[in-house]
Amino acid sequence: VQAETLLEVNNIEVIYNHVILVLKGVSLKVPKGGITALLGGNGAGKTTTLKAVSNLLHSERGEVTKGSIKYRGEVMHDQDPAEVVRKGVIQVMEGRHCFEHLTVEENLMTGAYTRADGKGDIQRDLEMVYSYFPRLKERRKSQAGYTSGGEQQMVAMGRALMSRPETILLDEPSMGLAPQLVEQIFGIVKSINENEGVTFLLAEQNTNVALRFAHYGYILESGRVVMDGPAAELRENPDVKEFYLGMS
Ligand code: ATP
Repeated sequence: VQAETLLEVNNIEVIYNHVILVLKGVSLKVPKGGITALLGGNGAGKTTTLKAVSNLLHSERGEVTKGSIKYRGEVMHDQDPAEVVRKGVIQVMEGRHCFEHLTVEENLMTGAYTRADGKGDIQRDLEMVYSYFPRLKERRKSQAGYTSGGEQQMVAMGRALMSRPETILLDEPSMGLAPQLVEQIFGIVKSINENEGVTFLLAEQNTNVALRFAHYGYILESGRVVMDGPAAELRENPDVKEFYLGMS
């Protein structure tokens, strides 16, 4: 049985500042319960694709000028960013964006602000987040600005989880982290996916690690999808090996 498609990006074009054409017809599908990777080098258009979905392009003078974005079959673009979050889609930005002056725990709690359910549920979810990120529990009273890059990545992911999302758009989780920490973060993504059923679309330059943890991958080059397939197949593809995995 094929999983239901949650997110469907259909042939989108994105233009910045009315003139700079950055996405030249990107299409992709994100199945419910999967980990889908959006791969490609610097400037390929990964972040732009995620922001198009979250409707975060306007603040950067970018707009979707062609194509469509649907979530559960409903057209997404033109909705305000808060509406996207209410639909259950949350983006974890590249560079983490913690509230530096708040503690780790206060940062996590900001993720729950859109929720209407009771305090008990929120407390339970906080414990759920700490079970995936025990390090955050140890650091819960520390000011976020004084935590390490890896810890801030965890705070950003934990805060996203606190909104009880159906889908997380994760931008470049490996950025600036030591290889061992990258493995750890991806391992946590995998267990959140398996245990909580959260669907992931992640943008990542580190093809090697992404294709080991994702189920399916899309490779972007200069604003176009040049290849896509199940992660296991992409890992064995000679072109992927040569150009993205550094083996030949
Ligand atoms: P990175 O890993 O560097 O974030 P990426 O694949 O995520 O790469 P994008 O950030 O989506 O790529 O950028 C794609 C292209 O769009 C790049 O050429 C970039 O210079 C350009 N771009 C991004 N943001 C803007 C903006 N606000 N105005 C103009 N051009 C932009």
